[in-house]
Amino acid sequence: MPNIVITGGSRGIGAGMVRLFAFQGWQVLFTYRESAERARALADATGAHAFRCDARSEQDHAALLQEAKRLFRGRVDALICNAGTSYTGLLQDMTTEAWDDLFAVHVRGAFLATRAFLPGMISERHGSILYISSMWGQVGASCEAAYSACKAALIGLTKALAKEAGPSHVRVNCLCPGVIDTDMLKEYSADDLNALKDETPLGRLGTPEDIAAAAYFLCGENAAFITGQALGVNGGFVI
Ligand code: NDP
Repeated sequence: MPNIVITGGSRGIGAGMVRLFAFQGWQVLFTYRESAERARALADATGAHAFRCDARSEQDHAALLQEAKRLFRGRVDALICNAGTSYTGLLQDMTTEAWDDLFAVHVRGAFLATRAFLPGMISERHGSILYISSMWGQVGASCEAAYSACKAALIGLTKALAKEAGPSHVRVNCLCPGVIDTDMLKEYSADDLNALKDETPLGRLGTPEDIAAAAYFLCGENAAFITGQALGVNGGFVI
């Protein structure tokens, strides 16, 4: 049975991925930070393992690695770095603390998780890492400059690490979702959401299941010759 670690699995896209991988028979260890109840309910429903790990914390990642070793006897086939938060506002109004925090969750978090699990994959000469970027990391979004910069950093990380880890048979890719219907869209009005649907050639918002299906493909053996790629899952919003 393959093993996977998914960060930020308690809600939204992460929860969609936890459900799909578990349903497909993978052993899943997922992290959460605040949503303990939802994490527990998801673990009960899917048989996945929930573990509290703040994406920003080095210590928490050391504990997460120990938990993965305990559950999976050291072998982690895939890692998905998905934990994330959003920030909307003019760049000049953003505080240094908010900038640092956003980068800590998205970029430092991806680094800490990768550094924890990559050595095991390299020694097994097998593994797949997937970052959840965003279409805004590809083209930039007004009033989401810091968020776009974080997501662009993950695309850069994907490309560089794919070159570095490829000779060790570890693949590294990222997904660039479009507008996906999760709590992250809470701040949008119904009019905003309709406008976003209208801008999407396929005429709807994406779902966590849309992203999970692409993640499942990229982490699995059917994608054995795919590395260093940023795959848009955006209904055609960005082409
Ligand atoms: P949600 O707000 O629905 O879920 C966010 C998840 O990330 C939760 O499980 C949350 O856990 C976790 N999380 C947040 N901060 C931390 C932290 N410091 N440490 C650990 N976990 C944390 O968002 P989405 O599901 O929509 O987003 C998931 C990823 O997809 C993010 O990286 C986001 O940027 C990206 N994305 C989303 C898009 C969208 O339109 N929704 C589009 C493109 C990319 P908890 O609640 O337990 O704290």
